[in-house]
Amino acid sequence: MNKDKWLTVICGPMKSGKTNMLVARLNGLLRRKMRVGYFQIATFVKEKTLLEKGVRSWDGMVLETNHAFLVPPTFNFLDRWVRDDYDVFAIDEVQFLDEQRAVGVLTLSEQYGKRVFVSGFDVTFNGKPAENLPWLAMYADEVLKARQGECELCGAVARYSYRLSGGTELVAEVEKGAEYAPMCRSCYHAVVDKQGYVGSLEGKEA
Ligand SMILES: [Zn+2]
Repeated sequence: MNKDKWLTVICGPMKSGKTNMLVARLNGLLRRKMRVGYFQIATFVKEKTLLEKGVRSWDGMVLETNHAFLVPPTFNFLDRWVRDDYDVFAIDEVQFLDEQRAVGVLTLSEQYGKRVFVSGFDVTFNGKPAENLPWLAMYADEVLKARQGECELCGAVARYSYRLSGGTELVAEVEKGAEYAPMCRSCYHAVVDKQGYVGSLEGKEA
């Protein structure tokens, strides 16, 4: 099977190593001279803007491309220019992409033979499957679960992302997004039972 046409889904909670996994795979493809475009979906931008500082994971891994952009949830990946400019598409924070455009992402790999990576939350802060990502995972050739993160309260492997700020709407009410703490299963449920899906962690450290 030709892996150049694969759809890969990378998912996990906050600070779990998703960007690390993505950047490692993309740098490998860049070294094979493939044309890689990185697109991060952001609800606070209206048009495509270049990420001038590039892409850097939490432990400092850097994506070796100048083609890294912030794009709005309505960005059309099937536009002729973007289709023709890249062999490989990396779409980060895919849970923010609107539904029609998520179908477009699938079309990129199925119909146009592009190598596509999508990355994002698998489960939202309120414990539900995230928008788009589980649906794309059904069609994916591989699904990678990032599990490098530690629970902020007890240090166990994190499974959930607890929301610290940004309100109770699925898309955060603040301009640049919400803040999250990675948490293991048992700490997450204990905190949710006590104070709901959004709150502060002050005084809760183990
Ligand atoms: Zn914990």
